[in-house]
Amino acid sequence: MQGGFALHSKILSELGIESVPVKKSSHLESIEGLIIPGGESSTISLLIESNELFDPIKHFSQYNPVMGTCAGLIMMSKRCNDKRIRTFGLLDVNVSRNAYGRQIYSENKLVDFFFGDIKIKKVPTTLIRAPQITKLGENLLVLGSVDSKPIAILNNHFLGLTFHPELDGIKIFHEVLFNPNSKVYYKKISKGYET
Ligand code: GLN
Repeated sequence: MQGGFALHSKILSELGIESVPVKKSSHLESIEGLIIPGGESSTISLLIESNELFDPIKHFSQYNPVMGTCAGLIMMSKRCNDKRIRTFGLLDVNVSRNAYGRQIYSENKLVDFFFGDIKIKKVPTTLIRAPQITKLGENLLVLGSVDSKPIAILNNHFLGLTFHPELDGIKIFHEVLFNPNSKVYYKKISKGYET
């Protein structure tokens, strides 16, 4: 639809997972998981409305894993500071759009992530006009933070990232939701975090 889906699809194919772009609700029938990519959340929100995808995606998300990167996380949030955006409310967080400033203030950092007991050190994370998670609700597992702000959060089969793993070729986050054989698969690492 809008946003950076090509690199997500490359990562999925490296994991042996087929992917298709979702542009209308019938496309949801053939898939078992969804990625809402980065882009402009205001545009993504408008396109979701004009393609009549809001209710179908909301329904789909009850039964299937959904991952959102950057603008995708904004779409998954419960509350966004930009009221033009109709969010899905899948992750109980408040987000603030473009909270790190303008495009020029985009950066790459090495961050340690915690997948339950598994720690993966110094993962490159690229933030591009990223949203900030300003308030966390209950039952969220924070996988990683920058300057004590969460940048990766998991709630059951919903994963929200303020950065772009696909730009750095990082596969581990896709594995969390879409690879049941992975040691970081969400059902394995969420134990003890009943939702
Ligand atoms: N700034 C964008 C927004 O608020 C998100 C940027 C991104 O997805 N890289 O929608």
